[in-house]
Amino acid sequence: MVLCVDNYFTGSRMNIEHLLRHDRFELIRHDVTFPLFVEVDEIYNLACPASPIHYQYDPVQTTKTSVHGAINMLGLAKRTKAKIFQASTSEVYGNPTLHPQPESYWGNVNPIGQRSCYDEGKRCAETLFFDYHRQHGLRIKVARIFNTYGPRMHPNDGRVVSNFIVQALRGAPLTIYGDGSQTRSFCYVDDLIDGFIQLMDSPDSMTGPVNLGNPAEYTIRELAELVVRMTGSRSEIIHKPLPMDDPERRRPDITLAATQLGWKPRVSLAQGLEKTVAYFDWLVQKHGDTCTGTGLG
Ligand code: UDP
Repeated sequence: MVLCVDNYFTGSRMNIEHLLRHDRFELIRHDVTFPLFVEVDEIYNLACPASPIHYQYDPVQTTKTSVHGAINMLGLAKRTKAKIFQASTSEVYGNPTLHPQPESYWGNVNPIGQRSCYDEGKRCAETLFFDYHRQHGLRIKVARIFNTYGPRMHPNDGRVVSNFIVQALRGAPLTIYGDGSQTRSFCYVDDLIDGFIQLMDSPDSMTGPVNLGNPAEYTIRELAELVVRMTGSRSEIIHKPLPMDDPERRRPDITLAATQLGWKPRVSLAQGLEKTVAYFDWLVQKHGDTCTGTGLG
């Protein structure tokens, strides 16, 4: 039985519509900043908007979602003796001074910037997970997720892969923030979910934190050019100002996941983009002008 909990701040019912008919699937509209009383064996806590545009829209609520949300879900795990997974993030490394980033790196995070509500919220959630583990013996599984993309992303998600694809499909200019020399490493969603399940099923001693991401690193300019090529678009590439504290480089060191879980991503960027482009192509045709790919609203 799977119980899906969402407040729909960034999620959409359309993404789970195909599961609603299933007898062992249940859906609750709920915000994790409030306690939840249900009976469960395993919890996957992915709650929190993850796109800068969405998490900066109401930064106080973002910190509350990570911190109060973690307290509520850890409380639920404690009462039900459930195993609990936390979706942490590569943002715990901030603008990293070490490259690629291993789990042992403590990060370089601005505590008072525009990204801090997300970064520090997720860092505090990790602290809570490890304290509940040490103090109350909870079985915890902490994954640090690097940039992930794939079908069912929101067209207005605001992150780079969906923005570029939607822009290219509509013939609108692709918006590179800054000069496009900053790098990211993009993991296809199916690879990431395999990693979640392998971590959840691993021995209790494997608490993490463990990096999950695809180590193939690309500049944002390379990504823009690849998307233009793959969509056959005639869009031009334009530049916009680089947002505050935008990390310059990001690539996971996945040695721990490879050796302890036997996990590694299998889908290349070109293969993953092909499936994602097909999804957005279908969505843009269906929704036409309402699909702008420029962020909130
Ligand atoms: N970015 C961009 N154009 C966009 C959206 C994002 O150039 O339309 C850049 C952004 O400045 C960052 C990178 O792409 O350097 C990844 O941004 P995203 O918001 O996807 O995720 P982040 O890793 O920054 O959380």
